[in-house]
Amino acid sequence: MDIIELVHNTALLIALLALYQVLISRRLPHSRNGQLIFGLLFGLAAIIGMIDPVVHSPGIIFDGRSIIMAIAGYIGGPLVAGVSAVTASLYRLWLGGGGAPVGTAVILVSAAIGVLFFYIRKRQGNRLGPLSLFGFGLLVQLLMLALYTQLPGEAGWQVIDAIGANILLFYPLATMLIALLFQDYEEQERDKQMLHQLAYRDPVSGLPNRSALLAELKHCLDTDDGEQQQQALCLLNIDRFKRLNDARGHIIGDALLHAVGQRLIPLLGSNTLLARLSADEFACLLKSGASEGRIRELTTAIHDTFNRPLSVGADEFDLTVSVGVTTLPLSENDEPGEVMRRADTALHHAKRGGGNQSVHFAPGMAKHAENQLQLERELRHAIEADELRLFLQSQLNGEGRIIGAEALVRWQHPQRGLIPPGLFIPLAEESDLIVIIDTWVFTETCRLLTSSPLAHSELRLSVNISPRHFYQPGFSRWVRDTLASYGVDPRRLTLEITEGLLIENLSETAAKMQALSALGLRFSVDDFGTGYSSLAYLKQLPIHELKIDKVFIQDAPNDPTLVESILAVASHMQLDVVAEGVETPAHAELLRCRHRVYQQGYLYGKPVAAAEWLQNLPQGTR
Ligand code: C2E
Ligand code: CA
Ligand code: CA
Repeated sequence: MDIIELVHNTALLIALLALYQVLISRRLPHSRNGQLIFGLLFGLAAIIGMIDPVVHSPGIIFDGRSIIMAIAGYIGGPLVAGVSAVTASLYRLWLGGGGAPVGTAVILVSAAIGVLFFYIRKRQGNRLGPLSLFGFGLLVQLLMLALYTQLPGEAGWQVIDAIGANILLFYPLATMLIALLFQDYEEQERDKQMLHQLAYRDPVSGLPNRSALLAELKHCLDTDDGEQQQQALCLLNIDRFKRLNDARGHIIGDALLHAVGQRLIPLLGSNTLLARLSADEFACLLKSGASEGRIRELTTAIHDTFNRPLSVGADEFDLTVSVGVTTLPLSENDEPGEVMRRADTALHHAKRGGGNQSVHFAPGMAKHAENQLQLERELRHAIEADELRLFLQSQLNGEGRIIGAEALVRWQHPQRGLIPPGLFIPLAEESDLIVIIDTWVFTETCRLLTSSPLAHSELRLSVNISPRHFYQPGFSRWVRDTLASYGVDPRRLTLEITEGLLIENLSETAAKMQALSALGLRFSVDDFGTGYSSLAYLKQLPIHELKIDKVFIQDAPNDPTLVESILAVASHMQLDVVAEGVETPAHAELLRCRHRVYQQGYLYGKPVAAAEWLQNLPQGTR
């Protein structure tokens, strides 16, 4: 009878083992709630054992509860043991009968011994061998038999006589085997976790990686409880990180990425996952409470936190980040890939808008992104198909005489007509396309300067040089060789560069500019005043000219202070000035008759095709 009972209880424990596996896979045994559930399940298993017991005499029953309680303590520790013992004890007391006090004592004592061995196991590296476990089982059963002697009347001794030997033979063995099985599961789990760590962590930042984020995103989408728009994904990208990484090397780059992660962690509330996805891309997943206000709060905090420079070793770095945001789910069958694409599209918009900002995804953006991709494909083709056109816009001196022109590119698209640079230059700047375009414009300009009618004039041409082109290895040599091959007098060529480029990497920039300036080339700072406007670099670099951006000129009739102060700086530093966007006589009046101030704008002429510009040149200037 008792053997059958033993098999019965062992089956219950094996069922528990399966449950344990499920709990472990949900990582529950490590949480308080998981332990409570586990404790209740052990208690329940003991109760099921008691429902169908060996009945010795009315009120006196036997079952495998001692094994179940001992295992609960040994595997789960004090909380699991406590919950299961209380559950089982309450049931045993409710059953009543003469054996109730001893029966309850068996439950409590077995659980306590289990907990004792739980601590012994912890000290032995989480695992006890078969012999120790057999000893553990034997101790539990000996104590149980000892408690039996306290049963009313002769019942205890009669039971010991009848089944004592069998109990001592089989119960410790069963305890040992079951404990070994549980231990094995635990060990496997510790291995499932280490692999998890490897597969789901980024080693550089110590943060969860892309796989972890995607898994979490999938979880969010799968368990959406209908409370729409309460989750959000923010993709973060460090502005101009690649250039920094290339200039300072990977060790600094990695340290910087780590520091960025550390900066971000304190900004995240509970229920937010921070992950590093790739090179300089991070993600924050707000798993709940992602109201518009909360998102704004987070993105503002992200931008603010980078106002302080990041220290790496002895160096300090000023970084800015761009952020693309999307809420989720946006539709019933939203998918992680789709969410990532939306956030990425928004991020692209943030970047294209100059960086250091957050942009929310809007449905039109996806279409826009698709169009851009199409445009990029066509643009690559355009260069081979000879669809680029060089336009020129006059620059005049204080007396209204043309002294030269700025070269501005256009794209003669076979279907869309003439496309202005504002629609394709920013796109080209995201890839090597800009280098190809700038190279074409530069060579075309050299050709113009050395062919009739410009060859024998003193007119100067300005070309725009984008940062990516400027930073190409061998840029200076390429410029020198091109000038030489066309026989261009370098003094007739001005390179327009932007403030951002100057700030980027002062020593490399200075070296390149010095080399080119030594050839006789002139440098002009384009869009002066819209960027960093640090005067410090002006002193250190061979700059010959400032171009005042058209927004300042257009504002000047109302408020001339900005233009006046730029003119003062230029005059102090003995630089030429070209005022852009001169559209009205009022604009012109402010600038007329100033020493070394030149004008460019629609008042004197829009950019026109180079051939047309050359044809319209007044006789005297040719
Ligand atoms: P940018 O270098 O600041 O060029 C001046 C822009 O202002 C030109 O626009 C010109 O047409 C416009 N502009 C001139 N006068 C006036 C005026 O009186 N009023 C107004 N509202 N606008 C005026 P565009 O040709 O559309 O060029 C836009 C930008 O595209 C340029 O700005 C430059 O950043 C870029 N770009 C143009 N060609 C090239 C190129 O060959 N290489 C590179 N890297 N960038 C280029
Ligand atoms: Ca320009
Ligand atoms: Ca400009």
